[in-house]
Amino acid sequence: MKKIITFIALGIMLYACSKVPLTGRARLDAVSDEEIMPLVNEQYAQVLKEEKVVTNTKDGQAVVRVGKRMADAVEKFLIQEGYPEIAESFDWQFNLIESEQVNAWCMPGGKVAFYTGIMPITLDDTGIAVVMGHEVAHAVAAHSRERMSNGLVANFGISILSSAIGQNPSLTQAIFLQSVGIGSELGMLSFSRKHELEADELGLIFMAVAGYDPRQAPVFWERMAAKGGEAPPEFLSTHPGPESRIQKLNQQMPKALEYYEASSK
Ligand SMILES: [Zn+2]
Repeated sequence: MKKIITFIALGIMLYACSKVPLTGRARLDAVSDEEIMPLVNEQYAQVLKEEKVVTNTKDGQAVVRVGKRMADAVEKFLIQEGYPEIAESFDWQFNLIESEQVNAWCMPGGKVAFYTGIMPITLDDTGIAVVMGHEVAHAVAAHSRERMSNGLVANFGISILSSAIGQNPSLTQAIFLQSVGIGSELGMLSFSRKHELEADELGLIFMAVAGYDPRQAPVFWERMAAKGGEAPPEFLSTHPGPESRIQKLNQQMPKALEYYEASSK
Protein backbone atom coordinates (compact mmCIF):
# COMPACT_ATOMS: atom_id res chain seq x y z
CA MET A 1 0.00 0.00 0.00
CA LYS A 2 2.74 2.38 1.03
CA LYS A 3 4.52 1.66 -2.24
CA ILE A 4 1.42 2.51 -4.26
CA ILE A 5 1.00 5.82 -2.43
CA THR A 6 4.64 6.64 -3.06
CA PHE A 7 4.13 5.90 -6.74
CA ILE A 8 1.09 8.15 -6.89
CA ALA A 9 2.90 10.96 -5.05
CA LEU A 10 5.87 10.57 -7.38
CA GLY A 11 3.52 10.71 -10.35
CA ILE A 12 2.00 13.98 -9.14
CA MET A 13 5.45 15.44 -8.53
CA LEU A 14 6.73 14.46 -11.98
CA TYR A 15 3.62 15.74 -13.66
CA ALA A 16 3.65 18.98 -11.69
CA CYS A 17 7.30 19.93 -11.87
CA SER A 18 8.86 22.44 -14.21
CA LYS A 19 11.84 24.77 -14.32
CA VAL A 20 12.00 28.47 -13.58
CA PRO A 21 12.83 30.37 -16.80
CA LEU A 22 16.34 31.89 -16.97
CA THR A 23 17.51 30.44 -13.62
CA GLY A 24 16.58 26.78 -14.30
CA ARG A 25 15.53 26.00 -10.71
CA ALA A 26 13.12 23.02 -10.45
CA ARG A 27 9.78 23.83 -8.85
CA LEU A 28 6.31 22.49 -8.12
CA ASP A 29 4.12 23.96 -10.84
CA ALA A 30 0.62 22.56 -10.63
CA VAL A 31 -1.43 25.74 -10.95
CA SER A 32 -1.44 26.98 -14.54
CA ASP A 33 -1.63 30.58 -15.75
CA GLU A 34 -5.02 29.84 -17.32
CA GLU A 35 -6.32 28.61 -13.96
CA ILE A 36 -5.02 31.52 -11.92
CA MET A 37 -5.80 34.42 -14.30
CA PRO A 38 -9.54 34.70 -13.53
CA LEU A 39 -8.61 35.04 -9.84
CA VAL A 40 -5.93 37.62 -10.69
CA ASN A 41 -8.25 39.73 -12.83
CA GLU A 42 -10.95 39.66 -10.18
CA GLN A 43 -8.59 40.57 -7.31
CA TYR A 44 -6.75 43.29 -9.24
CA ALA A 45 -10.04 44.93 -10.21
CA GLN A 46 -11.14 44.67 -6.57
CA VAL A 47 -7.96 46.38 -5.31
CA LEU A 48 -8.37 49.21 -7.83
CA LYS A 49 -12.00 49.64 -6.80
CA GLU A 50 -11.37 49.61 -3.04
CA GLU A 51 -8.15 51.62 -2.90
CA LYS A 52 -7.40 55.14 -3.98
CA VAL A 53 -5.45 54.98 -7.24
CA VAL A 54 -3.05 57.91 -7.73
CA THR A 55 -2.68 58.74 -11.42
CA ASN A 56 -2.06 62.45 -11.88
CA THR A 57 0.88 63.01 -9.56
CA LYS A 58 4.57 62.96 -10.41
CA ASP A 59 4.91 59.61 -8.58
CA GLY A 60 1.83 58.11 -10.24
CA GLN A 61 3.20 58.95 -13.66
CA ALA A 62 6.70 57.74 -12.76
CA VAL A 63 5.41 54.28 -11.81
CA VAL A 64 3.61 53.95 -15.16
CA ARG A 65 6.60 55.35 -17.10
CA VAL A 66 9.16 53.00 -15.49
CA GLY A 67 6.73 50.08 -15.68
CA LYS A 68 6.14 50.45 -19.42
CA ARG A 69 9.83 50.88 -20.20
CA MET A 70 10.67 47.79 -18.17
CA ALA A 71 7.81 45.72 -19.64
CA ASP A 72 9.04 46.45 -23.19
CA ALA A 73 12.62 45.58 -22.33
CA VAL A 74 11.72 42.42 -20.40
CA GLU A 75 9.47 41.14 -23.20
CA LYS A 76 12.26 41.67 -25.75
CA PHE A 77 14.75 39.99 -23.42
CA LEU A 78 12.48 36.96 -22.85
CA ILE A 79 11.98 36.51 -26.61
CA GLN A 80 15.72 36.80 -27.19
CA GLU A 81 16.40 34.22 -24.46
CA GLY A 82 13.91 31.71 -25.96
CA TYR A 83 10.79 32.34 -23.84
CA PRO A 84 8.35 33.99 -26.29
CA GLU A 85 5.34 32.29 -24.66
CA ILE A 86 6.15 33.97 -21.33
CA ALA A 87 6.61 37.35 -23.04
CA GLU A 88 3.22 36.95 -24.69
CA SER A 89 1.49 35.91 -21.46
CA PHE A 90 1.70 39.45 -20.02
CA ASP A 91 -1.05 42.03 -20.20
CA TRP A 92 0.65 44.75 -18.17
CA GLN A 93 -1.01 47.27 -15.89
CA PHE A 94 0.78 49.68 -13.54
CA ASN A 95 -0.92 51.58 -10.73
CA LEU A 96 0.17 53.61 -7.72
CA ILE A 97 -2.08 53.21 -4.70
CA GLU A 98 -2.46 55.64 -1.80
CA SER A 99 -1.26 53.70 1.25
CA GLU A 100 1.34 54.14 3.98
CA GLN A 101 2.48 50.55 3.46
CA VAL A 102 6.02 50.21 2.19
CA ASN A 103 5.04 47.72 -0.46
CA ALA A 104 4.73 46.82 -4.12
CA TRP A 105 3.70 43.65 -5.94
CA CYS A 106 3.19 42.16 -9.38
CA MET A 107 0.47 39.56 -9.87
CA PRO A 108 0.66 36.93 -12.63
CA GLY A 109 0.02 38.48 -16.05
CA GLY A 110 1.86 41.68 -15.07
CA LYS A 111 -0.71 43.41 -12.85
CA VAL A 112 1.50 45.75 -10.84
CA ALA A 113 0.78 47.93 -7.81
CA PHE A 114 3.09 50.30 -5.97
CA TYR A 115 2.02 51.87 -2.66
CA THR A 116 2.78 55.53 -2.00
CA GLY A 117 4.60 54.44 1.21
CA ILE A 118 7.49 53.01 -0.80
CA MET A 119 7.97 56.06 -3.03
CA PRO A 120 10.19 58.14 -0.67
CA ILE A 121 12.62 55.18 -0.52
CA THR A 122 12.76 54.81 -4.30
CA LEU A 123 13.81 58.49 -4.69
CA ASP A 124 13.81 58.50 -8.51
CA ASP A 125 13.09 56.42 -11.64
CA THR A 126 16.13 54.20 -11.05
CA GLY A 127 14.94 53.42 -7.50
CA ILE A 128 11.49 52.64 -8.87
CA ALA A 129 13.19 50.37 -11.44
CA VAL A 130 14.91 48.40 -8.64
CA VAL A 131 11.53 47.59 -7.08
CA MET A 132 9.83 47.15 -10.48
CA GLY A 133 12.54 44.74 -11.66
CA HIS A 134 12.24 42.70 -8.45
CA GLU A 135 8.43 42.50 -8.65
CA VAL A 136 8.35 41.76 -12.39
CA ALA A 137 10.93 39.02 -11.72
CA HIS A 138 8.54 37.39 -9.22
CA ALA A 139 5.95 37.31 -12.03
CA VAL A 140 8.33 36.05 -14.75
CA ALA A 141 9.54 33.29 -12.41
CA ALA A 142 5.86 32.59 -11.57
CA HIS A 143 6.59 32.58 -7.83
CA SER A 144 2.97 33.18 -6.93
CA ARG A 145 1.84 30.14 -8.93
CA GLU A 146 4.51 28.10 -7.19
CA ARG A 147 3.42 29.40 -3.75
CA MET A 148 -0.19 28.78 -4.70
CA SER A 149 0.67 25.19 -5.71
CA ASN A 150 2.48 24.61 -2.43
CA GLY A 151 -0.26 26.34 -0.41
CA LEU A 152 -2.99 24.23 -1.99
CA VAL A 153 -1.08 20.99 -1.44
CA ALA A 154 -0.49 21.97 2.21
CA ASN A 155 -4.12 22.90 2.86
CA PHE A 156 -6.12 20.66 0.52
CA GLY A 157 -3.69 17.81 -0.18
CA ILE A 158 -3.92 18.48 -3.89
CA SER A 159 -3.23 21.52 -6.01
CA ILE A 160 -6.24 21.61 -8.31
CA LEU A 161 -7.41 25.20 -8.05
CA SER A 162 -10.99 24.65 -9.18
CA SER A 163 -11.64 21.90 -6.63
CA ALA A 164 -10.01 23.98 -3.85
CA ILE A 165 -12.33 26.89 -4.70
CA GLY A 166 -15.26 24.45 -4.66
CA GLN A 167 -14.27 23.09 -1.24
CA ASN A 168 -13.35 26.31 0.53
CA PRO A 169 -13.45 29.53 -1.50
CA SER A 170 -12.37 31.87 1.31
CA LEU A 171 -9.34 29.76 2.27
CA THR A 172 -8.42 29.50 -1.42
CA GLN A 173 -8.66 33.26 -1.76
CA ALA A 174 -6.53 33.78 1.36
CA ILE A 175 -3.86 31.46 -0.07
CA PHE A 176 -3.99 33.38 -3.34
CA LEU A 177 -3.58 36.78 -1.66
CA GLN A 178 -0.63 35.47 0.32
CA SER A 179 0.86 34.03 -2.85
CA VAL A 180 0.82 37.39 -4.61
CA GLY A 181 2.05 39.29 -1.55
CA ILE A 182 -1.06 41.20 -0.49
CA GLY A 183 -2.45 39.27 2.47
CA SER A 184 0.78 39.13 4.41
CA GLU A 185 -0.84 39.82 7.77
CA LEU A 186 -2.34 36.32 7.77
CA GLY A 187 1.14 34.90 8.00
CA MET A 188 0.35 31.57 6.34
CA LEU A 189 2.74 31.49 3.46
CA SER A 190 5.95 33.36 3.82
CA PHE A 191 7.97 34.60 0.94
CA SER A 192 10.87 32.28 0.90
CA ARG A 193 14.42 33.45 0.88
CA LYS A 194 14.92 31.39 -2.26
CA HIS A 195 12.24 33.36 -4.12
CA GLU A 196 13.54 36.70 -2.90
CA LEU A 197 17.11 36.05 -3.97
CA GLU A 198 15.87 34.74 -7.32
CA ALA A 199 13.75 37.89 -7.80
CA ASP A 200 16.78 40.04 -6.90
CA GLU A 201 18.97 38.18 -9.39
CA LEU A 202 16.49 38.44 -12.28
CA GLY A 203 15.37 41.93 -11.26
CA LEU A 204 18.93 43.22 -11.49
CA ILE A 205 19.14 41.99 -15.09
CA PHE A 206 15.69 43.34 -15.92
CA MET A 207 16.53 46.85 -14.74
CA ALA A 208 19.82 46.68 -16.65
CA VAL A 209 18.25 45.61 -19.96
CA ALA A 210 15.72 48.43 -19.50
CA GLY A 211 18.65 50.88 -19.27
CA TYR A 212 18.59 51.62 -15.52
CA ASP A 213 21.93 51.54 -13.71
CA PRO A 214 22.01 48.22 -11.74
CA ARG A 215 24.61 49.66 -9.33
CA GLN A 216 21.72 51.54 -7.74
CA ALA A 217 20.09 48.26 -6.58
CA PRO A 218 22.36 47.64 -3.56
CA VAL A 219 22.13 51.36 -2.75
CA PHE A 220 18.34 51.11 -2.74
CA TRP A 221 18.37 48.06 -0.41
CA GLU A 222 20.61 49.98 1.97
CA ARG A 223 18.03 52.77 2.08
CA MET A 224 15.31 50.16 2.62
CA ALA A 225 17.26 48.54 5.47
CA ALA A 226 17.77 51.95 7.10
CA LYS A 227 14.00 52.37 7.11
CA GLY A 228 13.81 49.75 9.87
CA GLY A 229 10.99 47.60 11.10
CA GLU A 230 7.96 49.24 9.52
CA ALA A 231 8.16 47.39 6.22
CA PRO A 232 5.86 44.44 5.45
CA PRO A 233 7.14 40.86 4.96
CA GLU A 234 7.64 41.28 1.20
CA PHE A 235 10.46 43.66 2.00
CA LEU A 236 11.87 42.76 5.37
CA SER A 237 10.95 40.15 7.93
CA THR A 238 11.22 36.95 5.91
CA HIS A 239 13.56 38.40 3.37
CA PRO A 240 17.21 37.64 3.28
CA GLY A 241 18.98 40.10 5.55
CA PRO A 242 20.09 43.29 3.81
CA GLU A 243 23.76 42.32 4.05
CA SER A 244 23.42 38.95 2.32
CA ARG A 245 21.09 40.47 -0.26
CA ILE A 246 23.54 43.29 -1.06
CA GLN A 247 26.44 40.84 -1.17
CA LYS A 248 24.58 38.63 -3.69
CA LEU A 249 23.65 41.63 -5.83
CA ASN A 250 27.27 42.73 -5.95
CA GLN A 251 28.32 39.21 -7.02
CA GLN A 252 25.90 39.44 -9.93
CA MET A 253 26.85 43.01 -10.81
CA PRO A 254 29.49 42.30 -13.55
CA LYS A 255 26.92 40.35 -15.61
CA ALA A 256 24.23 43.01 -15.02
CA LEU A 257 26.64 45.77 -16.06
CA GLU A 258 27.25 44.00 -19.38
CA TYR A 259 23.52 44.09 -20.05
CA TYR A 260 23.36 47.72 -18.91
CA GLU A 261 26.15 48.75 -21.26
CA ALA A 262 24.60 46.83 -24.17
CA SER A 263 21.22 48.54 -23.50
CA SER A 264 22.60 51.98 -24.38
CA LYS A 265 24.08 50.86 -27.73
ZN1 LIG B 1 10.07 39.98 -3.25
